[in-house]
Amino acid sequence: MASQERQAQVTLFIAAKKHGKSTLAELMVRNHYYPNALIYKEGVNVYDEAFKKYPVIEDIYSYKGGKVVVNGGFIRYKNFLKLVNDKFRNGVLMLDDIAEYERNDISGELWPILVNNRKLGIEVVLLYQGLTDVPIRMFKYVNTVILGYTNDGFEYKLNKFPDRGEPFRIAAEKVKAIHNQCTCKDPCRCGKRYYREIIKLS
Ligand SMILES: [Zn+2]
Repeated sequence: MASQERQAQVTLFIAAKKHGKSTLAELMVRNHYYPNALIYKEGVNVYDEAFKKYPVIEDIYSYKGGKVVVNGGFIRYKNFLKLVNDKFRNGVLMLDDIAEYERNDISGELWPILVNNRKLGIEVVLLYQGLTDVPIRMFKYVNTVILGYTNDGFEYKLNKFPDRGEPFRIAAEKVKAIHNQCTCKDPCRCGKRYYREIIKLS
């Protein structure tokens, strides 16, 4: 059923810096069937190589559609999310490196988007550098986890999951083992440094 396939999803994409996250994230935006995308970035991330073809906007009020990078230096995260919730439809919402805002718990501004994303028609992609930074409560709303290499010690975090995070533990061990087989100098040409596991939660 086509309508089933086209339901907006929530994807959590976790990988350390320099592990191919931006490249895949850009492909996810470029190839998405939704015509619109707001890619929220801050600081040096705004000028991410992988996203250099996207216009950077500093004023969300003048946004007229299409796929753009939103410079978080000009619009506060929480205000941005309120506007997204009120006005943004049929689009990808990508939040890059949000550990600063969504760490111990889901913010009051992101929460309604996660809960209603299908009704709103918002595909949500959340980017983190490590599993440690993701609030446990967030996993309830996530359909798919893409797990790349991370260098954070997340064992204690896994113990907070009902099943002690077994699927994550297995995936993380596999990713690490394959990652560590790479002997390339920068950049990696064998691809093992960018290896990822996909964990389906719903
Ligand atoms: Zn390599």
